[in-house]
Amino acid sequence: IYGPTRKNSKGVNLNIRSQYQPLVDEMAKFMDKEHHVKPLLAFDVPDSPSDRHEVRSPYDTRQLVGSVQWTNKEQAKKAVDAAWAAFPRWQATPVEERAQILERFADGMENHLAELMTLCSREGGKLLTDGVDEIREAVDFCRYYANRARDLFGEATPLPGPTGESNELYMTGKGVFACISPWNFPVAIFCGQMVASAVSGNCVLAKPAEQTSLVAHRVVELLYEAGMPRDVVQLLPGDGPTVGSVLSSDRRITGVAFTGSTDTAHIINRALAAREQSAIATLIAETGGLNAMIVDSTALPEQVVADVVRSSFQSAGQRCSALRMLYLQEDVADRIIEVLKGAMDELSVGDPRDLGTDVGPVIDEDARKGLQAHIERMKGEGRLIAETKLNPEQTGDGTFVAPTAFEVEGIQTLETEQFGPILHIARYKASELDQVIDTINGKGYGLTFGVHSRNESFAKAISEKIRAGNVYVNRNIIGAVVGVQPFGGQGLSGTGPKAGGPHYLLSFATEKTRTVNT
Ligand code: GLU
Repeated sequence: IYGPTRKNSKGVNLNIRSQYQPLVDEMAKFMDKEHHVKPLLAFDVPDSPSDRHEVRSPYDTRQLVGSVQWTNKEQAKKAVDAAWAAFPRWQATPVEERAQILERFADGMENHLAELMTLCSREGGKLLTDGVDEIREAVDFCRYYANRARDLFGEATPLPGPTGESNELYMTGKGVFACISPWNFPVAIFCGQMVASAVSGNCVLAKPAEQTSLVAHRVVELLYEAGMPRDVVQLLPGDGPTVGSVLSSDRRITGVAFTGSTDTAHIINRALAAREQSAIATLIAETGGLNAMIVDSTALPEQVVADVVRSSFQSAGQRCSALRMLYLQEDVADRIIEVLKGAMDELSVGDPRDLGTDVGPVIDEDARKGLQAHIERMKGEGRLIAETKLNPEQTGDGTFVAPTAFEVEGIQTLETEQFGPILHIARYKASELDQVIDTINGKGYGLTFGVHSRNESFAKAISEKIRAGNVYVNRNIIGAVVGVQPFGGQGLSGTGPKAGGPHYLLSFATEKTRTVNT
């Protein structure tokens, strides 16, 4: 689908190689560099060899990318002190100045595209195409939130009042936000949370995922170069139980922006609620999904398969938006499954730096083992439909999982989200449609959903009945674009507001009314 020799439906060679080659050439400069980094805090952090953790490439675990010194509890607490000390000054900084820092930062990331992509690939196992999309999204978040902030935090809104009284409403930052981000979008989601908090007038303690702290470190250096003060945004690499729990249990934390698993969101929520004598914190959680797609008998099989393959296997299925459960109306199921098998045979799994690769590694050995255990279980409980062949020469030294598809009874077979390239398929009869929708809704998740049908009223009716944050009709269900498809779910999939949407910054702000007796 994405490789260098692929042709589009009209037989035109998409020739991705020539489009990407200059970038690949530039990336070569950064390929062998080792990165050894420390927390970026408002104060100096001494070297501590015992807190250092090695980073290895998921596509070849023999390759050392560098090491990260994790933040200890004492440093995390001191970082909260520094953030609070900086807050009054930052909150009073004109929004125009805050917005311009984001715009310079966006330019900086664009100017360092090859370097950031190299890190995304070496540390996070990202394909080049995914890396470009990732950095593009981060840049879009910066520019979009900068403009939204100008609208929301600029002029106060005058309100009516009796003669002799003036009233106005305006917005300010809330205090100190902890931003806890995932490894699957180590630049885009990491930046999105961080810049949204900061441009709204908050100080930020950013905790990147353990697996992708090197790229986060480089990104924060670029943010400082763009003019962000070091006490306004601090980077606290480390593990959840140490840094995450210090932050979520500190009564001075005003809000947490979190993207990750539903279970961890619950842990954070409980920790925030258990704090005594603290303000009631805001929790913005974007969690997982058991995302489904319904395909009726009017859909076009080739288009369905292209969209299913992309939704399930792009980024090795490591997107919370990815397709996990495909429902096919029984009259078209055999045909679609046959085309899908053919497409899965064609996928090439391997080194993400190679332009011919369609599916890269999963993030680490723990992830690989968990997915492999699910595959083994499904081989007993379901019917194996297709499993892409792995070439040991390509995949032998990394944490790879073969794209795999099973036929199962329905979404009720799935307990939790499996964060990798595994697709489940079920057949339904037209008369069972309402039951299928109830079963999907009954799971309690609600992130993305897809419907493929040439019957417009059918597609519309299903889109309305399904409880999901992002519904896609006759296309794939991943890759939401900032300002175009605001992203985020409901129920077990998250609290909202939607990232990249017009209301996102509102949750990072507090409203103030000023009444003056004139
Ligand atoms: N926004 C991404 C998409 O639409 C998914 C984000 C995630 O995986 O957390 O594909």
